[in-house]
Formats: sequence, C-alpha cells, structure tokens
Amino acid sequence: MGKIITLSKELINHIAAGEVVERPASVLKELLENAIDAGSDKISVKVGQGGIEHIEVSDNGSGIEPDDLENAVQPHSTSKINSVDDLSHIETLGFRGEALASVAAISKLSILTKTEASSTAQMMVVTGGEIAPVKMASRDTGTTIRVEDLFHAVPARKKFLKQPKTEYRKIIDVFVPLALMHPEIHWTLESDGRIVHTLPSIAGTLGGSLHPQRVFELLPGIEFVEVFYDGEGIVVGGMVGHPSHKAPRVSERYVFVNGRPVWDNGIAKAVMMGSARFIPEGMRVPFLISLNISHDQVDVNVHPRKMEVRFANPYRVYSAVESAVRKAYEDNVRESLSSEEPHRLRRGGAGEDISNEGGREHTLSDSFENRSTTQSFRESTHAISRPVNPHTVEESLSFSKLILSDASQEGGTGVLPQESSKSPEIDPDTVVSARQYLNRYVIAQLNDAILIIDQHAAAERIRFEKLLRDYEDRGIESQTLMLPLEIRMSSKELLFV
Ligand code: ADP
Ligand code: MG
Repeated sequence: MGKIITLSKELINHIAAGEVVERPASVLKELLENAIDAGSDKISVKVGQGGIEHIEVSDNGSGIEPDDLENAVQPHSTSKINSVDDLSHIETLGFRGEALASVAAISKLSILTKTEASSTAQMMVVTGGEIAPVKMASRDTGTTIRVEDLFHAVPARKKFLKQPKTEYRKIIDVFVPLALMHPEIHWTLESDGRIVHTLPSIAGTLGGSLHPQRVFELLPGIEFVEVFYDGEGIVVGGMVGHPSHKAPRVSERYVFVNGRPVWDNGIAKAVMMGSARFIPEGMRVPFLISLNISHDQVDVNVHPRKMEVRFANPYRVYSAVESAVRKAYEDNVRESLSSEEPHRLRRGGAGEDISNEGGREHTLSDSFENRSTTQSFRESTHAISRPVNPHTVEESLSFSKLILSDASQEGGTGVLPQESSKSPEIDPDTVVSARQYLNRYVIAQLNDAILIIDQHAAAERIRFEKLLRDYEDRGIESQTLMLPLEIRMSSKELLFV
C-alpha cells in the first residue's frame, strides 16, 4: 500500500496557520485588512497583553451575510476573487481566503456580524476549528471579531511568543501603517484597557493615501519634506525626514505599494541613495514612501502574509523613488545650503568673527551640520569658547590642535579610532597647517603626515569621552529642569523610553 495520503482539513489549516499567523500582530493584520476591505470608516482595536490574551477588532463595514458566515472560516474561501485573472489586478488587501480559517484553527475565534439587509446580527464561535451553532445576537451593521487563546493548541508556537511588551510593539507596527494609509477611517487602539490612539477620520480623504495630519498624529516630532514623482506609470508620493532628523538607525520607515503596507529593501536603499547628498554617510532619515503603480506591474501574491511584493521592473521603480527623494531635498533644503555655502566660505576666507551668529536665518547648514557640532563642541569643551567652527586657517589650526590634544589626554582615546591607535601618539605641536573643507572636514598637515578629521564626528567623540570620564570619576552631573519640557513621541518611541 502506498504511503502518500491527502492531509486532513484540520492539518491543512494548521500548516497554513504556521505561515499566516506568526504572532498576535499577524492576526491583527489580517483582521484589520478584512475590516478595511469591508469598506469600514470606523475601526476599533482592543488588545490584551500585547494580543497574547486577546485581540478584538470592531468595524462598521459591510458585515458578513448569514449564508456566508460558516464559509468565512473555511480554508481558501474568499469573497474577493474568483478567477486566476483576478490575481493579476488585486485591489483588496485580502484575497487568499486563508486568514480566518488559519486563525480559527489555532484559537478561539468569535464573529459577531450584521449586514445592512439583515434584521438581526449573528454570533459564531469557532474553537480550534470546531464551529459551534450560530446564534442570533444584536449589533449595528458591521463586524466584531475577537481572537482569544491564540496558539492554545500549538504549544510549540506559544513558546516562541515574546514578552507582552514585545508583542505589543509588533501590534503597533501593524496598526500604525494601516492607520497612516487610511486617514478616511476613524481609528481607536486600546491596549490593556487604556486608549492609546484615537484618530478621527479626516474629512475629504481617501483610503490609500497619506495625509500630513495623520502622519503628524502618528509620528509626532518629525519634520518631513514632501516627496512627489509622476512618470512612466509610477506615482511616488510620501515624505522623507528633514536632514536634521538623521540618525544611524531610524525606526520610522514605511513603504506602501498601491495602499498596501509592505517592506522592500530596494526602496529603502533608493531612499538612502536619493538622500545621500544631504545627509552624512552612514546616517538615515525616517521616511514614508507610497507607490502607486499599475496592478499588472506588481505581484502581491508572493508572500503568505503579503508582506512583500514583486515588481515587474524593479529598476524603474527604484530609480523613480531615488529621483523623487533627491528632488524633494533639492527643492526644499538645497536652496538654503547653496545660498549659505559661498557666504560661509567668503566669510571664512576673510577671517571675520564667526562667533556672532545672532540674527541669522535658520538654514539647512545650521540644522544639519553646524548646530549639533557647535552645541556638542561648546558643551564638551569649556576650554574654548571660540573658534567654535573653524573657518580661518588659524582657527582650523587650533581646532585640529585641540582635537589632537584631547586625543592624547590621559584616559581618553580622543577622536582617533581605536584601530588606528597603533599609529603613534600625535603631538598637537606638529600640526603645521590646517584648513576646513566642505564645512565638514578639517584637513591638518603634520610634519610628516596628513590628517583628515570629520569635525562633527570629532566633536561627538570628545563629548562621548568626557561623559565616559565623568561617569567613571564621579557620575554624570545632571540637573532637573525648572519647567518641564514637553516632547511629542510616536507610540514606538514611547515604548522605548
Ligand atoms: P480574504 O480576506 O483573503 O478573503 P479571510 O479569511 O481573511 O480571506 O476572510 C474570508 C472572508 O470573510 C472575506 O473574503 C470576507 O468576505 C469575509 N470577512 C472577513 N472579515 C470580514 C469583515 N470584517 N467584514 C466583512 N466581511 C468579512
Ligand atoms: Mg483577509
């Protein structure tokens, strides 16, 4: 007798669940997608213990017809497509018809739903795939789906769940991009009985588009520059962080393709390339990139959780994103740079007093280079009050000497990276001349060598060394503010704090 059998429905669902439901946040993603697909303009989410305890999504969408209710939790059952042809132009978020079946197989799932046409609501409870008799119930048109005991029958999976706090962070990662993409929907998010977000719908908006107000609500404290490009069948919209928001790592990076939150490394890279001229190497800026591209140019059916897409012509997409980002910066921040740059050079050359910065306009160079350098420099070294930013030859010279002397101070490794410490200690007095270039580098000529110093990195290093020394010596001094400082943060940053 042969050994090959056809798997039972139960087993099939469990296998699908393994792909679709990685953690509570994946359940939330499926439920929210369904609520959006149902045309809701009000969606509320409640989670307990990062979704481990329960996840509940309530919407005011179409509801599920009584005849469809049991089908909704059957594998490969969907109301969204019905032919292979449909696969090539999917306009809904869901289409695979396996989410509810998968979730129902490994949890206790209850659906309370009512359509406009039916006079009463219906309540269906599915436990580990077993459907209990449907009951009459009451609610307004729409659907509430509650998922409890996730993975109760899959202990192996349960073991891999992280702390509620970590799972909650993943919940936020699902909620935020969908709420960003749907400013037309009134959203609420409640976690462990506490309201985290209330986002009223924004009049006149459509689903699948970013709205500055919603972006501000969800990602406060970031100054964005708008991105736009329209050509060759690709529309790129969205925002990139102003260069002043650069950081080695940023968490707020969002990609949307035809209204679907996805992740695509190529797009992230294109953003980096487009911003390369405006932010220092190794730094990144937050971004939201929303692409609209003809449905036959993108395949969304490449990932069970629909997290990735495949472009028919990735190069065209990436280069569109890159030029869109570059243009956004050129239009919004370059001006101040180019008008400022010659001025500075002239001033530097003439050896004017640069300590008097009063009354100057706020420019890009301020926010993106000098401001932080100046500040960290002032704070870290009381030894010098000026030159703060070296502009004249003499100033550059003393700047380099200062950096070098800091480098040779006891305890401090100074600005020279550890790896180079095999190079001999540099005596500041061997600096024969120095000059600042590009408003960023100091090139110092020594007796027998040349030194290129990234002044921003140097200033940061000096400050870091000082903090380290203070910490080791007597602890870092701190002072309570007389007036509290209000800082707006996204839910993700708040969690981190
Ligand atoms: P898919 O979304 O891929 O179609 P699902 O398993 O997520 O598959 O959902 C199955 C079906 O159940 C959907 O096609 C839809 O008809 C119905 N459904 C699920 N959730 C809702 C909801 N919140 N409102 C209305 N219909 C829903
Ligand atoms: Mg779905």
